[in-house]
Amino acid sequence: MEILRVENLTKIYGKGETAVTALDNVSFSVKKGEFVAVIGPSGSGKSTLLHIIGGVDTPTSGKVYIDGTDIYKLNESQLAIFRRRQIGLIYQFYNLIPILNVEENMTLPILLDGRTVDKKHLNELIETLGLKGRQKHLPNQLSGGQQQRVSIGRALIYNPAIVLADEPTGNLDSKNSEEIVNLLKLYNQIYNQTLILITHDERIALQADRIISIEDGKIAKDEVIRQ
Ligand code: ADP
Ligand code: ADP
Repeated sequence: MEILRVENLTKIYGKGETAVTALDNVSFSVKKGEFVAVIGPSGSGKSTLLHIIGGVDTPTSGKVYIDGTDIYKLNESQLAIFRRRQIGLIYQFYNLIPILNVEENMTLPILLDGRTVDKKHLNELIETLGLKGRQKHLPNQLSGGQQQRVSIGRALIYNPAIVLADEPTGNLDSKNSEEIVNLLKLYNQIYNQTLILITHDERIALQADRIISIEDGKIAKDEVIRQ
């Protein structure tokens, strides 16, 4: 089943002489449960692609369908709700809220929706992420690896349609990187969670089901390495 479809996506930043074409007519689709690694040189358009799929940057032209929804047809408030429930974003520098504790950061999408938190689901996630005993800690009381696990928790709290990770291990040492990749793979394999992950690390890319290489805003290569 197709969970993501990107059609003729183009992104041009700026105007006139200083215009930069960050994405040039990119199309592809991703199946539910697929783990896709996105690789390519710095400045090739990887982050721009992920941000547009994630609904946090708008395309100049083209379409993004997530689980059948044309996300740029949604109005601003519909898109905000869709993002919270169906798109899990993970960044290199965690983007946690410094004044909220671990539990509050993880459940932020639910709190912003005005819903009450299902404690059982939350506690399972905390356990699996190895954050037991840290629920009341603030981000600055945690290691980088722990902070990244909190941001994975926030991304997964709603069982979103897709998880998008932009260099999630870029700020971590090799031991912590391996742990983070293993957690993302666990949710991908056990819960069939679709994962699109940007990485510079070839060892991480080779663990994916498929590798998309971006060069100059275009797909240079798209290889399935595991069925
Ligand atoms: P990557 O993630 O592969 O390093 P990016 O998507 O960040 O690449 O950038 C692609 C191109 O778009 C680069 O030339 C970059 O300078 C440009 N770019 C990215 N974001 C912006 C922005 N907000 N304003 C102007 N140019 C941008
Ligand atoms: P559905 O997509 O089945 O209508 P929801 O969008 O309400 O369900 O929730 C999707 C998943 O997100 C649930 O299966 C549950 O794991 C998690 N979830 C939903 N609401 C909460 C909540 N209030 N607290 C914790 N987890 C929740």
